[in-house]
Amino acid sequence: MTNTPITIVGAGIAGLTAAYTLQNAGLTPRILEASSRIGGRVDSLYSAQGEVIADLGPTWIWPPFQPIIARWLERLHLPTFDQYDQGDAVLDGFAPTPRRQPVPGQYGMARIVGGPQQLISALVKNLPDGSIQTNTPVDAIHELDNGKLAVHTDTTTLTTERVLLATPLRLTAERLNLPDTLKPGVTAALRAMPTWMAAQARAVMTYDEPFWRHQGLSGRIASRQGPLFECHDHTSAQGQASLFGFVATPPEHRDPEPLEQAILAQLERCLGPKAAQPIEFRVRDWAKEPWICATADRTGPPEHPAVGPDLLRSGHLNNRLWFCGAESADQSPGLIEGALAAGEQAAEAAIAEHKRTRL
Ligand SMILES: Cc1cc2nc3c(=O)[nH]c(=O)nc-3n(C[C@H](O)[C@H](O)[C@H](O)COP(=O)(O)OP(=O)(O)OC[C@H]3O[C@@H](n4cnc5c(N)ncnc54)[C@H](O)[C@@H]3O)c2cc1C
Repeated sequence: MTNTPITIVGAGIAGLTAAYTLQNAGLTPRILEASSRIGGRVDSLYSAQGEVIADLGPTWIWPPFQPIIARWLERLHLPTFDQYDQGDAVLDGFAPTPRRQPVPGQYGMARIVGGPQQLISALVKNLPDGSIQTNTPVDAIHELDNGKLAVHTDTTTLTTERVLLATPLRLTAERLNLPDTLKPGVTAALRAMPTWMAAQARAVMTYDEPFWRHQGLSGRIASRQGPLFECHDHTSAQGQASLFGFVATPPEHRDPEPLEQAILAQLERCLGPKAAQPIEFRVRDWAKEPWICATADRTGPPEHPAVGPDLLRSGHLNNRLWFCGAESADQSPGLIEGALAAGEQAAEAAIAEHKRTRL
C-alpha cells in the first residue's frame, strides 16, 4: 500500500481544477485517471504540427453569465473570442427545401482561443511530473479502521487521507464500489444525475476557407431532418475554417460510413457543394467512452442535469470524501462552469479539513 494525503479520481476539468487549487495551497495531490489521456470530455482535433484546430468536446462558454469561468480565465490568462454569428442561419426540414433566415440567440457565447484544451494545459502546468497516473481506473474505495481510505485499482491499493471523486456521478454509481457507510440516499442521488452530453456525437469538418461566410451565412443550421440537428461555424481564432454539428442519430444506429455520407449530403443541401468536400471529417462519439458515458446515459433520453441535492456537494465519511464532477455543481451543473465550481469547492473543503485536523 502506498500513502498519499489527497487523491483525486478523474483528470477532466473538475479533477484538474481541484488539483490546481490543492497545489496552490501546497498540497500536491495524486491523480488517478482511467483513460490513456487527460481532459475527460475535453478533446481536440490536432494539426500535423500538434496545434489544436478544432474541439471534439465542449466549445462554448458564456463569460457575461458565468462568473466562475470569467474568474478562472483571468487567473489562467486565457483569452477568448466571440462565436461567429454574422449572417443568416439555414433552417432544414421546416419546408420542402432548406431556407435562409436570421436566427437570434447566441448573445454572450464565446470560445477560448485554442479551445478548452488550453484550459486543461493551464491547469496541469504547475503540477509536479508524475502526479497524474493515466490508465489507472479506480474500481473501489473502502474505509480503513484508522479512518483513512483505501483506493483500489486493478493493480494496486493506496491509502489516502482524503479522496475527491471527479468522475461523472452516474458512472460513479454504476462502476465504483463505494463504502456502505455513505449517507443514505447518496447512491440514488448519483444515479439520478445525467452526464451532460455524454451520449452525444460531434461531427467536425475542416475547410481551406469559411466559404459560407462569403455567402452571407453564419454557418448555423437548425435541422428537423438531420442527421445533424445543429451545425455551427467553428473557425479557429487563428483562421482554420471549420464547422461542427451535433448528431441526432441515436448511439445504437451510428454506423460510421453511412453516417458520414448522410452528414455530407445534409451539408451540401444546406450550404452548397463545397460543404461536401471537407479537408478533414471526424465524428467523435462520446457514447463509446466507457469512463464517461454511463449505461443509463446511453440508453435513456438526453437530459440536462438540474441542480442536485446538497448531499452531492457535502463531505462524506467524516469529511474524507467529496464528489466533484461537473454535474455535482450548484451553478451550471454539467457545464464547464460547473466543473470549475465543483473542483474548486471540493478542493477548498479538503484543504480546510486538512488544516483543521492538523491544528
Ligand atoms: C460533445 C460535448 C459538447 C459539450 N459542449 C459544452 C459546451 O459547449 N459548453 C460547456 O460548458 N460544456 C459543454 N460540455 C460539457 C463539458 O465538457 C463538461 O461539463 C466538462 O468537461 C466535465 O468535466 P468533468 O471533469 O466534470 O468530467 P469529465 O470531463 O467527464 O472527466 C471525468 C474523468 O474521470 C475519468 N474517470 C471516470 N471514471 C474513472 C475511474 N473509475 N477511475 C479513474 N478515472 C475515472 C474519466 O476518464 C474522465 O477523464 C460538452 C460535453 C460534450 C461531450
